Order: sequence, then C-alpha cells, then structure tokens
Amino acid sequence: MLKIDFHPTTVKKEKPEPSTLGFGKYFTDHMFIMEYNDQDGWHNARIEPFHYLTLHPAATVFHYGAEIFEGLKAYRTPDGTVQMFRPIENIRRMNNSAERLRLPQFSEEDGLQILDTFVRTEQDWVPSAPGTSLYLRPFLFGNDETLGVHSIHHAMFVLIASPVGSYYKEGINPVRIMIESEDVRAVRGGTGYTKCGGNYAASNRAGENAEKLGFSQVLWLDGVHRKYIEEVGAMNVMFRFGDEIATPALTGSILPGITRKSCIELLRADGWTVNERLISIDELEDSMKTGALTEAWGCGTAAVVSPIGELYYNGHSCIVGGGKIGEVTQKLYDTLTGIQWGRLPDVHGWIRKI
Ligand SMILES: *Cc1c(COP(=O)(O)O)cnc(C)c1O
Repeated sequence: MLKIDFHPTTVKKEKPEPSTLGFGKYFTDHMFIMEYNDQDGWHNARIEPFHYLTLHPAATVFHYGAEIFEGLKAYRTPDGTVQMFRPIENIRRMNNSAERLRLPQFSEEDGLQILDTFVRTEQDWVPSAPGTSLYLRPFLFGNDETLGVHSIHHAMFVLIASPVGSYYKEGINPVRIMIESEDVRAVRGGTGYTKCGGNYAASNRAGENAEKLGFSQVLWLDGVHRKYIEEVGAMNVMFRFGDEIATPALTGSILPGITRKSCIELLRADGWTVNERLISIDELEDSMKTGALTEAWGCGTAAVVSPIGELYYNGHSCIVGGGKIGEVTQKLYDTLTGIQWGRLPDVHGWIRKI
C-alpha cells in the first residue's frame, strides 16, 4: 500500500454551472503528486490543494520532451454512486508509454489506489447532468535539473481532474474529416503507440490547417507509404464495409485506444466480424465509390464515438452514410455510454466503483 498524505484545502471552490463546463476549463480543489528519484523510487505521495507547479528551468520536460499522460473519466450513475471505466487499462498503457520514454513506471495496485483515493477525495466534483463527467488527467514527466542529455533520474507524477460537459450538447452530428497527405503523426519505431505530449505537438500543424479549411479533424496516413489509414485526429478510427467492421491494426504508430478495444469486444460479442488490418486509402476511395463503405467513426474517451459524415481527399469530398450517424455507430454509442454512466449492467467487468 502506498502511503498517501492528505493536505485538505481550506478554501473550497464554487462548482461551475453544468451548462458552462466545456472541456478542461475548470479544475477541482485538489491534486495528487508524487516524486521519483533513483535512490528512493516513488516517494512523497500526497493530495494537496490545487496549485501551480514550481519547476527548475532546466527540467528535462521543458527541453527534451519526456512527458506522457493519460485520460479517463469518473461517471455519476443514476443512484448517485461514482465509477470509472477500465482504469486498469489506463495504468497499463501509462506504463507502456513510460517504458518507451524511459520514465519510471509504477505498479498497477499503486495506480488503482491513487485513482480511487483521488476520485473519492474529489467525488463531489463528479457532475450529474446528462453526458457530464469528471475527466481525470494523470501525467508523468522527467524532472532532472540539468541540460545534459542523459537518462532520467528524477520524475514527477501528477493527477488533476476537471469536470467536463457533454461532448454532444447539440446531438451527435457527423463530422467532416480531411485526409492529411503531407504531415504525419508518428512512424513505426517512434512514439505513436504512447500517449506522449510530443505526438500532439507534431499534430498541431495539420490540425490547424484542417480547421482553417472547415474540417474538424484530420485522418492520418502512415508515415512510410503515406497510404495506410492510421487514426482520426486523436481518436482511433473504424469503418463498416458491408458485413465487415475494419480498423487499422496496431502496427506501432497507432495509439491503442481503450475505446477502440471496447468497441471491438462489444462488436464481436454482437456477432460482427471485426478485422484489425491494413486499410489503404485506395481501398477507402474505392469503397466510397462502390458504396461498400456504409459507416465510419472515430472512437476515444472524450467523444466515445464520433460519426464521420464526410471525407475529403485530393481535392474532392465523399459523403459517408448519407452524412448521418449509422446504426452500428449509434449502437456502440448507446452501449458504451450506458455502461459508463451505469444505465446498463456491467457484463464485461469494466466498471470500478469508488
Ligand atoms: C487517447 C488517444 C486515443 C483514444 O484512446 P482512448 O483510450 O480510447 O481514450 C486515440 N488516439 C490518440 C492519438 C490518443 O491520444
């Protein structure tokens, strides 16, 4: 058992109006911090009033980008209890990310204890309006106080939480996606399969460009052939070709999403053929011409699923599924959100009650 000190805040903040929540604008009363060095391992675990971090200007994270993070939510169920969705998967993925960037890892037991303890402390902050939740953002970074480029001996782990609004305030509207053929997000052998901040920095230019042209996300192609579909923005992507559901295989440059994994498991349990495979842009274009592509959606913790209504590539646009949300997409959305918010039974053992 990790020893977690608790220093409660003396001034509690006012809770924001549920309708004004948005994403990541408000933060709860407390934060969790612990520190790492080679001699002591992880130590000084504590929950403190939410505050600014004071870091040495030479800290590794500012210069050499050693930073990883996670994203998961705590949900308020109809009977008022609070629960998380597959948190063990986030802890495992964080350790995988840490392994790649040579940041320190911690045990799954400690990870769960930290999440449980922190969410219990902040449970009044889990909103109850439809579609709202408490977004949890664990992050971990190198904190050596030297400009020397070397392996990491000091690190800090922090967990903050933000009450967030419903992603779909105006209903689930299919989004317009631009296929990106210049920039790439990640390459095999790089950090694409980790949740590291640098991957997002590398995505900024294409994202901004797409936004300027009126698209909400880019669809990434692989970095070597510029040919195979990878992800859509910061979500995994799935396609329905008639009776087949296809999603890009986890080749190393794709983030292994927990929503992706859950969709695959739900679809297979429903009898669908789900193939994790290479999907080329040529196949996608052909399937749009022949009408074989009937549904496309992104999936990730923030949106759960996000139907794709239009794909733009090489100067022309294709409407997918009549520009409306498809039946598989809708069913996945209803099932996943039903389990997450506790309206449906947790038959897969995905729920962790607080
Ligand atoms: C976080 C993330 C996803 C989605 O992962 P979930 O675990 O489903 O939230 C997909 N792609 C990228 C690049 C991500 O950072």
